[in-house]
Amino acid sequence: MSLPDPALVVLVGASGSGKSTWAASRYRDAEVVSSDALRAVVGSGEHDLDASADAFALLEQVVAARLGRRLTTVVDTLGTDAGRRRTWRDAARAVGLPAVAVVLDTPASVCRSRNAARDRPVPARVLTSQLASVSATVDLLEAEGWQVVRVGPDDDPNESDVEPARASTPRATPSGLRGVVLQLSRFPADADLLTWLRVMAAAAEEAGLAGLALMDHLIQIPQVGRPWDPIPEPWVTLGALAACTTRLQLGTLVTPVTFRAPGITAKAAATLSALTGGRTFVGVGAGWWEREHAAYGVGFPSARERLDALELGIETMKALWAPGTKPYAGQRVSLPETTSYPRPVGEIPVIVGGGGDRTLRIAARLGDGCNVPSDEVGLAKVVRYLALVGQAGRDPASVHPTVLDLPLVGRDRDDVWARVERHRGRTAAATFAARHHAGTAAEHATRLSGLADLGVTTAFVAPVGLDGPDDVLALAPLATAFGRPGPGH
Ligand code: GDP
Ligand code: MG
Repeated sequence: MSLPDPALVVLVGASGSGKSTWAASRYRDAEVVSSDALRAVVGSGEHDLDASADAFALLEQVVAARLGRRLTTVVDTLGTDAGRRRTWRDAARAVGLPAVAVVLDTPASVCRSRNAARDRPVPARVLTSQLASVSATVDLLEAEGWQVVRVGPDDDPNESDVEPARASTPRATPSGLRGVVLQLSRFPADADLLTWLRVMAAAAEEAGLAGLALMDHLIQIPQVGRPWDPIPEPWVTLGALAACTTRLQLGTLVTPVTFRAPGITAKAAATLSALTGGRTFVGVGAGWWEREHAAYGVGFPSARERLDALELGIETMKALWAPGTKPYAGQRVSLPETTSYPRPVGEIPVIVGGGGDRTLRIAARLGDGCNVPSDEVGLAKVVRYLALVGQAGRDPASVHPTVLDLPLVGRDRDDVWARVERHRGRTAAATFAARHHAGTAAEHATRLSGLADLGVTTAFVAPVGLDGPDDVLALAPLATAFGRPGPGH
């Protein structure tokens, strides 16, 4: 059973039907608003019926406040009051949250025997009338606009909603880049850099990830950290990683064409390919951050010129990586010779970062893949990219549609929301959670295998608050979301 999240979830069931148990097995304490629990807050205990009016006044306030913030809210009452149900449903609709009614389909006899076993059982005739109102309510729910979910007595309350990630059938792709590539974007200021890289790389290999990608920036970017946070030069750093890995694909995401003459990038990548036995990819982009160019005395021409340079750069790299030393006369670039040794081992896939339409066309005509965000807008670009690849007369199965994904990964629902709270800054929790698909690794694995079904081969993943090797090992369930690694991995 998979329930929408965030959502309004209203429980419907008599005393002893298992409402509170079901809610506690799936949601955090703070997400469950219970009339019984609030009776105990404002009255003498959960069964203090004299406190009902006060308890429900609080309950309505809590439900309205949480839904107003688009936070998942589970309402644990009998669920049989039609007027209250309408108020809750309307509040959810007002903020665009799905309204789900979870009906506890527990046989009356089971409710009765559980009730009898309680410290303070509900009187038998009260339970009888609850059971009657519950079955009358169940008939109304669909017409009221609820998404109705029935929970049977046999459903294991501890079973997760999340199906295990199934491995989708891998398409034939030209290199070992398929899967989850960890993007390292923050580096320790105090720890020894090489030791840290070794530890992180070992964890990535152990987790079964497909590769490691490094950003290529001269100053740490504001999206990630502060200007004085270290951001090592990627090709040098990849050389160090080459020496402490045996399986991971290594490359940049992405190298701005403005930083180095393309032949120099081709030389660095070919060297890395030779050092790693072919575990190399190159992410390239047009560059976007003027400040780092100015600070380092690097030119930053107009967007059009940078995109021209991107085309020229890809063509130059491919010419230099091609076998032989013969002269190259292409559309945009002519080289008197293409003498480049060491030769790359196998092909070096060029992944073009950016979602502008011209960038996608460059990726489709000249590159071996694209890289776009993993949100809805980005996924539409994956579809567009694959169409452009076809229009360019190329086989869509030979390219890498890739996404950049910034997941927030927690061990369980409590840990997920503790991390949301730690990292959200001033962004509303629900907005931050949605942006980062906040969830457990199993939930991310399911989501990513959905992307694989759209044709995405590779997710470059930069987890929110990635601190150390434990956070990398926690990504292991994601490793097979794009299909199991092929032979040789
Ligand atoms: P509520 O009154 O609807 O909130 O019901 P509770 O969640 O408090 O459950 C009533 C009793 O039934 C408790 O003693 C639970 O431990 C037990 N119970 C609830 N759900 C299940 C279940 O799925 N299986 C079993 N065996 N016991 C359950
Ligand atoms: Mg209860």
